[in-house]
Amino acid sequence: MASIIVLGAGLGGSLVAYELAPVMRPGDQLILIGREPRYHFVPSNPWVAAGWRERDEIEIDLTEAMAKKRITYMTQGCKRVHPAESRIELSDGSSLTYDYLVIATGPELAFDEVDGLGPEGFTQSVCHVDHAEKANAALEVFAKTPGPIVVGAVQGASCFGPAYEFAFILDTELRKRKIRDKVPMIFVTPEPYIGHLGLDGVGDTKGLMESELRQRHIKWITNAKVRHIEAGKMTVDEIGEDGALKKTHELPFSYSMMLPAFRGVEAVRGIEGLTNPRGFIVIDKNQRNPKYSNVFAIGVCVAIAPVEATWNAVCLADFGDGGVAFIAEPQIPPRNVNWAAEGRWVHYAKIAFEKYFLHKLRHGESEPFYERWLMKGLGIHRLTMVQEKGEPQ
Ligand SMILES: Cc1cc2nc3c(=O)[nH]c(=O)nc-3n(C[C@H](O)[C@H](O)[C@H](O)COP(=O)(O)OP(=O)(O)OC[C@H]3O[C@@H](n4cnc5c(N)ncnc54)[C@H](O)[C@@H]3O)c2cc1C
Repeated sequence: MASIIVLGAGLGGSLVAYELAPVMRPGDQLILIGREPRYHFVPSNPWVAAGWRERDEIEIDLTEAMAKKRITYMTQGCKRVHPAESRIELSDGSSLTYDYLVIATGPELAFDEVDGLGPEGFTQSVCHVDHAEKANAALEVFAKTPGPIVVGAVQGASCFGPAYEFAFILDTELRKRKIRDKVPMIFVTPEPYIGHLGLDGVGDTKGLMESELRQRHIKWITNAKVRHIEAGKMTVDEIGEDGALKKTHELPFSYSMMLPAFRGVEAVRGIEGLTNPRGFIVIDKNQRNPKYSNVFAIGVCVAIAPVEATWNAVCLADFGDGGVAFIAEPQIPPRNVNWAAEGRWVHYAKIAFEKYFLHKLRHGESEPFYERWLMKGLGIHRLTMVQEKGEPQ
């Protein structure tokens, strides 16, 4: 009988546990290991920061949901993975052994890589619901004495959508409060151009995002490297196409949200053969680690192999009163599907998706048949499974 551990009870880990549960044989054991009893829907964090959602509206009790599917859910968290021994060490000092391990630990937020960055420093974050609540409290204080805003992402960041979303959501919120006229806004990003999104653009995201920033009177700096941040001031180097320093900007701010770079979590970082130098899990075409063949990985914790990856990106970026949707298939260009569109419908689609996702997680579903049909109808398929020589089908 097999013992399977899924490590990380976020978006990917919860869904993979639901996918595995129906194929367990009597006597097999499926354990999901997280760090907290409740799951929160990360894409809704910007709405919490803007005060458009309360925390409990985007959270569900995972213990209850997993119990319904007979999945053992443990919340101690993992201190260290020991793949050579097929063992994980939990934070309470106990250990569990496994036959198969699926790592879904998401990113560690590397705030420490830029001086003054993050909720412990001088900028806000929307990466975790705790940060989003703090960002909302800071927004309320800011609204009493409005001033300049800086939003964006720092060098090394790989996820840019939420930075654009939050800039546009803030703009919408400030207009609602009738204080937008008192707030100069600037978007700071290491992307080589607006709308690159870490994907070399999708459809005309360059044109769409630039136009949106212009219409909302948000200035921008691309190719940016944040040197350091202090109370009320961000020092940003703008790098030229030749790689040389073009200009150093001293940006004053009364409120700022900057996305950090991601790296792998401490529990897996620095394990020879398992992770790359940034701590992301190395996987093959079937999402299996080449050195430890009983270890798989999914989600943000994986090291993306640029050329051969068949991954797709589907995104709804909400702007509060509109938004941009895009489909990139595959994620890395040139693509078979390279589509982007904007409109008010994206805002409503994102709300609908939030409700739908939380509903299916509460009810123990991963991909209901109608979702599969819809995705198929849109031409979006699961990853291509590649059979290695001598492997069972
Ligand atoms: C504000 C924001 C908005 C986003 N919007 C979108 C979007 O619209 N669409 C999209 O595709 N992506 C979006 N993303 C990216 C999004 O984070 C990921 O798509 C998704 O959450 C990644 O899922 P994951 O399972 O890899 O990681 P996560 O959902 O982050 O889950 C990782 C889990 O592992 C747990 N964990 C970590 N270390 C340990 C440990 N040692 N022991 C036990 N548990 C551990 C964490 O606590 C966490 O619960 C957004 C990201 C942010 C920050």
